Amino acid sequence: MSVASIRLFVPSPLRERCEIALGEAQSHYLANVMRAAAGEELRVFDGVSGEWRAQVTKISRKMVLLTALAQTRPQAPEPDAWLCFALLKRAKTDMVVEKATELGVSVIQPVITARTNADHVNLERLRAIAIEAAEQCERLEVPEIRPPLPLARLMVDWPVERTLFVADERRTGALLGNRDGRVALMTGPEGGFTEAELEAIGRTPQVTRVSLGARILRAETAAIAGLALLLAARP
Ligand code: SAM
Repeated sequence: MSVASIRLFVPSPLRERCEIALGEAQSHYLANVMRAAAGEELRVFDGVSGEWRAQVTKISRKMVLLTALAQTRPQAPEPDAWLCFALLKRAKTDMVVEKATELGVSVIQPVITARTNADHVNLERLRAIAIEAAEQCERLEVPEIRPPLPLARLMVDWPVERTLFVADERRTGALLGNRDGRVALMTGPEGGFTEAELEAIGRTPQVTRVSLGARILRAETAAIAGLALLLAARP
């Protein structure tokens, strides 16, 4: 991998000739892992100003300075889509965050249900996973990772304008497909939602139960496959 193929998520705002001081981790990566040299160019984005070509202007073991040269891509709207997934064990949660970012979600909301086998996350670690995935898949935004919420609390003030597709493994709903507008996908834990949970969720008018196909998917597969069905056709 060359320095020129690197994309880094940096603090905003980006404008022509602005100086960007990279943090310790990104400086270490550029200076010590990629052995970048002054004068080399890479791409940066900040989630609001589009993507820019940037040049390494100062390099030391602890800190690398870049200068933004020119915009390569204007900021463009990305899908307004949430993933509300029942919290899974650490490695599976990490994978869901990485894949959900690649698939284009704007918000990742871990949910605590009766059968989840975890109730807290390291938000900093998940945010770092989301940033790395956004850098790699050429996104212009990094999804917001929200602190876990109990299911009942999440449903109390569900936004009226947002359709919530709840993946029900008994396949009581129609097959999920591409949907426009403000959407959300909810998937359950390894042991599935309880009857009472599905009952309670169903009382929210914005909820539609959906099937993800004829097979029973693992919880992490359901989150990833569901987002692919929901978002793959979106720009
Ligand atoms: N209760 C079953 C079990 O214990 O194996 C299934 C739970 S499934 C592993 C975990 C979650 O994935 C479910 O709560 C559901 O949200 C989703 N899921 C899995 N397969 C699905 C399908 N074919 N259609 C809709 N949702 C599915």
